[in-house]
Amino acid sequence: MNEQPGHEPQLDTSKDSPWETALAQLDEAAELMGLAPGAHEILRAPKRSLSVSVPFRMDDGSTRVCQGYRVHHNVTRGPAKGGIRYHPNVDLDEVKALAMWMTWKCAVARIPFGGAKGGVAVDPKGLSRAELERMTRRYASEILPFIGPEKDIPAPDMNTDEDIMAWIMDTYSMNSGYSVPGVVTGKPVAIGGSRGRSGATSRGVMYMIFSTLKSLGIAPEEVSVAIQGYGKVGGHAAQLLHDAGCRVIAVSDVDGGLYRERGLDPEAINRHKKEAGVVAGFPGADPVSNEELLELECDVLVPAAIEGVITVKNADRVRARVVCEAANGPITFEGDKMLSERGVFVVPDILANSGGVTVSYFEWVQDIQAYFWSEEDVNDRLRQIMERAFDEVHTLAAEKHLTMRQAAHWIGVGRVAEAHLTRGLFP
Ligand code: GLU
Repeated sequence: MNEQPGHEPQLDTSKDSPWETALAQLDEAAELMGLAPGAHEILRAPKRSLSVSVPFRMDDGSTRVCQGYRVHHNVTRGPAKGGIRYHPNVDLDEVKALAMWMTWKCAVARIPFGGAKGGVAVDPKGLSRAELERMTRRYASEILPFIGPEKDIPAPDMNTDEDIMAWIMDTYSMNSGYSVPGVVTGKPVAIGGSRGRSGATSRGVMYMIFSTLKSLGIAPEEVSVAIQGYGKVGGHAAQLLHDAGCRVIAVSDVDGGLYRERGLDPEAINRHKKEAGVVAGFPGADPVSNEELLELECDVLVPAAIEGVITVKNADRVRARVVCEAANGPITFEGDKMLSERGVFVVPDILANSGGVTVSYFEWVQDIQAYFWSEEDVNDRLRQIMERAFDEVHTLAAEKHLTMRQAAHWIGVGRVAEAHLTRGLFP
């Protein structure tokens, strides 16, 4: 970019790519808070981006090559931190956006990490388990110089899980000659994972919905919830919210969704999904498309799938009172403006889904100390951190007449900028 940050609009936000959304959010926060142009310029660009080619052998003996990435957006407050996703649409711009959001997310939660993200452009459903392992180990080898417990700690994200983290941890450890559990988080408990990590993002989403409802004077038992995405985050959030007394009226996965006004039972849906492979076809509920789900009459809408699902094209049809972003970047910059003009209370991703990275931080701390906590301890500390973050964002939003997203970015960007200023510019 040769434009001066903080001046004229620098990008066409109507294009709605995650990177454009992320930059527009940063630019807006920088302007609102009067961020120094130098700091703004530093924060607009990722610190380093690695692009790797990942060749691996298929079961039939042929060779396949996928494109992989690992981006460190910022490491001023601590080691880079963020997940790895496997998805056919992964590209450098998406990974850059996700890395930038990790930087703000860690800062908002006051976690001493910077922001990173990685990804491989692949559809893992098209790979056998052995192919998935070989691809993962080769990708891990390619990014090996980038990662380590002191510099960059990967974790699960879309289509990656604790088995994949175990293979990355093993690949790194075999190269070191000893076990290095702190190189990844979200790994199995048997090799140094944290209790409570697998459900942490969903649990955090629940805490943020409850904090929101409390601030609006509404009891959880009174609300209806629609959840887009029935994977690790959305599926578990449905269960937790149902158990807490909310009425979960709609859920969906990539193949479509379900709606029942009286409420759905996630346990029964899980049983159905186990057999059918999808939520669609669950008896006693009406089918609903992913687009229709976003427009249902409900109190709380939880987009827990992919980026850019609420845009200028459908934001005026969202009827929820609260939108809690369990996914990263589900609402585009302009779509968000339309929601806030209509008074929809949006809990932004960098606050709403920070439960995952918060328990990742706990996992890293436990690995380094070789001392492990109970699940109760983990959940309790998670709740404290997230409720404090919500209160800080909510208070600033009220004070400065900002949306929750603007306030969260103000706080996140502000803490990172303060760290830069405190350390000084090298050399
Ligand atoms: N992938 C998750 C996220 O987007 C978790 C990252 C982590 O635990 O490092 O926040």
